[in-house]
Amino acid sequence: MSCPDGAREDSAFTERTGAQRPDVLVVGLGPAGARAAAVAAAAGLQVLAIERRTRIGDPVQCAELVSAAFTVEAMRWEAVTAQGISRMVTRVEDEPPESAEGFAGRMISRRQFDQRLAEHAAACGALLVLGVTVSAVAADGRVRLSNGQTLWPRALIGADGPRSRVGAAIGRANRELVVARQVTVRLEAPYDATDIFLRAEYRGGYAWLFPKGRDANLGVGVDHASRERLKSLLEALHSELAADGRISAASGSMLTGGLIPVGGRLRAFGRLGTVAVALAGDAAGLTNPVTGAGIEAAVRSGELAGRAVCAWLGGAGEALQDYEEELGDLYDGAYARAQRHRRAVLRCADARSLRRGWISSPEYWA
Ligand SMILES: Cc1cc2nc3c(=O)[nH]c(=O)nc-3n(C[C@H](O)[C@H](O)[C@H](O)COP(=O)(O)OP(=O)(O)OC[C@H]3O[C@@H](n4cnc5c(N)ncnc54)[C@H](O)[C@@H]3O)c2cc1C
Repeated sequence: MSCPDGAREDSAFTERTGAQRPDVLVVGLGPAGARAAAVAAAAGLQVLAIERRTRIGDPVQCAELVSAAFTVEAMRWEAVTAQGISRMVTRVEDEPPESAEGFAGRMISRRQFDQRLAEHAAACGALLVLGVTVSAVAADGRVRLSNGQTLWPRALIGADGPRSRVGAAIGRANRELVVARQVTVRLEAPYDATDIFLRAEYRGGYAWLFPKGRDANLGVGVDHASRERLKSLLEALHSELAADGRISAASGSMLTGGLIPVGGRLRAFGRLGTVAVALAGDAAGLTNPVTGAGIEAAVRSGELAGRAVCAWLGGAGEALQDYEEELGDLYDGAYARAQRHRRAVLRCADARSLRRGWISSPEYWA
């Protein structure tokens, strides 16, 4: 198994790939790209995956929560799990907290999770190239890399996150984004729940405290237009929780954050000349518009995109259209519901609207 943990030499890259025309070029090695690369390589295709980071999953830009029901091929959960989650506690403005069962989850180490997915893709036969950025995608499907090389794949999978360059090349863009900021804090006592803070001041988003052993991820997300307030909002919540004795006042390391698409699913396929293009994960807008959760959809869509591209290269002309329909079946209902609630809360963010616009409320599902 080749190790994805570290940048490859450019010369090794040229030697290994030989031709400038791989069957499949995957851009981005987050969960979507790693799963797409694994599936396509396991089917016998020559797969190249390009990742601009020099270490997979680093830095972490995630609150690291997945549902307990989530399964991934070849994942050893015990190796990537920080702790289990048994319930969700919703805190609307300054009203008393409400605890809800039925939200069992898992706090993972996102770095280790992504690294394991990438290792599996390499074990399936994909060639992973780290520390190289896709700098341009031309109208005929030729892809220019930051190392000066140009590739012309037969199929291209854009798994390059919320601001996808591959998506832009086929006219797709995530136009509604939440901006998030997060720190790692020290808990004063062990905790078994995910805390969700719903307040009018977190416009278009919410805040969270997700425990992972002695530490926790404390974060705030707001709509893009409110991004200037993020720093002060996070600092205020940090001070509040420290004053309540829940977290240590001195803690607050590993500042991170990022963008979360909340505008709904994008059309996930296209053509650039003769090159078939499929988008997966955040690049295809596959995050829940209310919760921002996207890890599971990234994994699933990556797998489906990998399969679709294999079928298309094998002569199944409808395979990409089928991929689009599969994504619609899986996500359109849930995202439309979330979108309705998100818009309602943006119109009116009183305590009642905030509560019923969140997934732990029975009214959310009515
Ligand atoms: C602060 C925050 C907290 C979150 N918390 C959760 C959570 O708790 N649970 C959950 O389910 N979801 C969460 N999400 C969402 C989740 O992280 C994403 O939905 C998920 O990472 C999507 O995976 P992906 O593979 O599509 O994209 P990414 O994980 O973004 O991977 C894309 C990869 O593409 C690479 N790339 C981008 N452009 C190029 C280029 N031009 N050339 C080469 N490589 C490129 C990037 O470096 C990156 O590694 C959170 C998001 C944020 C920002």
